[in-house]
This record gives sequence, structure tokens and C-alpha cells, in this order.
Amino acid sequence: MESDEWAKQGAKLRYDRQTDTYYLHVSVTQEREDSSEEAESRTVLGVDRNVDGYLAVTSTGAFIGNADLLNHKRREYERRRARLQQQGTRSAHLTIQSIGDTFANWPEGFLHQASKRLVEQAVSQDCSVIVFEDLEQIRERISNASKFQQWAFRELKRQTAYKARAEGIAVESVHPAYTSQRCSHADCGFTHEDNRDGNEFACQKCGKELHADYNAARNIAHRYVQNRLKSGSGRATNHLALKSGTVNGNGDYSPSTV
Ligand SMILES: [Zn+2]
Repeated sequence: MESDEWAKQGAKLRYDRQTDTYYLHVSVTQEREDSSEEAESRTVLGVDRNVDGYLAVTSTGAFIGNADLLNHKRREYERRRARLQQQGTRSAHLTIQSIGDTFANWPEGFLHQASKRLVEQAVSQDCSVIVFEDLEQIRERISNASKFQQWAFRELKRQTAYKARAEGIAVESVHPAYTSQRCSHADCGFTHEDNRDGNEFACQKCGKELHADYNAARNIAHRYVQNRLKSGSGRATNHLALKSGTVNGNGDYSPSTV
């Protein structure tokens, strides 16, 4: 945003001997709301993480990783370990160690694939920031989640941040309150617990229907942009990456050029 007011800083008269012409140089400054750093345009990818269904859903509509498969593998491992512990033999203990080592590698690989796809999504959509919900604040919402699931959430973010850094993409967090209840459609924003029913989101006000996790991911990106606007930085230079375009903090929509 540039203002129309120019402040005169001073003037200098210069004479060009060859063309026998006088030039008047006037220096002016112009107020800018954005410093050069803040004026950098940022496109934000919101990511919703889940303990069941899809592990991660982005504001661009990418559905990544089967959290049910991750949970199933973990339960299978725990059952097998419990059976072996009951046997109590030395060979059973050795087997426990061996399947423990093998199992430890599986979720790492699974989360490696998921975080890789998240960063690929951010790169393909020209995003400079990936935004998650703050896990510490989320704890209440995922109090049913096991220690393992909570570890998987943290690990997904850690691996994503690691891979994103190599692409020059930042990873940030926002407060998770109401991101699953708020309507992300256009500038509706109607927030009510009845809007969500399992995987389905249906706004009780404007009637918009979306996959609940996709809706939440859009709200996560939206919150990050709103926070930046409130803090006065990056006015109108933050965009939410959506399925087929971007929306800036003022709600102006630009369709994707791809
Ligand atoms: Zn709505």
C-alpha cells in the first residue's frame, strides 16, 4: 500500500554544459506501510492433523497419509508384544527386542512419506509458510489420543520443518481454537459446534458443505494470515493457498494460474 503523499527532502540544481541545460533534482520520500521484509508476499499452506482418517489435510485440498493404518500397525505391534511378554521366555524377550526395532522404523518411514508430500504440496503451490495447529494447545482436543499418536503429530511437524527448511519454507503454528467449527467459505466465518458432524462440515448459516478436515486446514491458514494482519505486519501481502487459488487477508480471491 502506497500513500499518495510525498514529502520533499531537498532540491539540487545541476547544469549540463554540453546541452546547456539546467536540471532541477528534487528528492522525495514516500511513506510505506510495509518495510521491505514485510512487503515480501507470503502464501500460506494450512495443515490439519488428525488421529484418524487422513493424517494430514491441507488448505489446498491434499489428503495425506492414512492415520487408521498407522494406528492399526501400532495396535498390532502392542498385541504381539503383550503376547510375547506373557510367555516370559528368553527367546520371547529377544523377539520383543527385534520386533520393537523393526516397528520403530515403520512409523518413521510412514511419517517421512507424509511430510515429504506436505512439503511437495507447499512447493507446488508456491507457499513460503506451512502452518500447523499448536500441539500444546491441541492437547485438550486430542486428549483421547495415545502417547504414540501424540508422538506421531510432533514427529510429522518436526520432519516437515526439516524438509521445508531445505526449500526455504518456514513452519509456524497457530492456536487451534474453533478451527474445526468455523466456516471457511468466502467471508462467512460462522462458528458453531453443530457445523461439524464427523468428517462432514455443513455451515448452519451459509449452507456450504466441505470435508471437515479440509475446512479446518483452510481455517488454520486463515488464522495465521489474520494474526499477521493484527500484528500489523505484511498487510495484504499474505495469501491463503486454497484448492484452486489464493485468498488474501482482505478476502480477495485470486484463481490459480496453474
Ligand atoms: Zn458459512
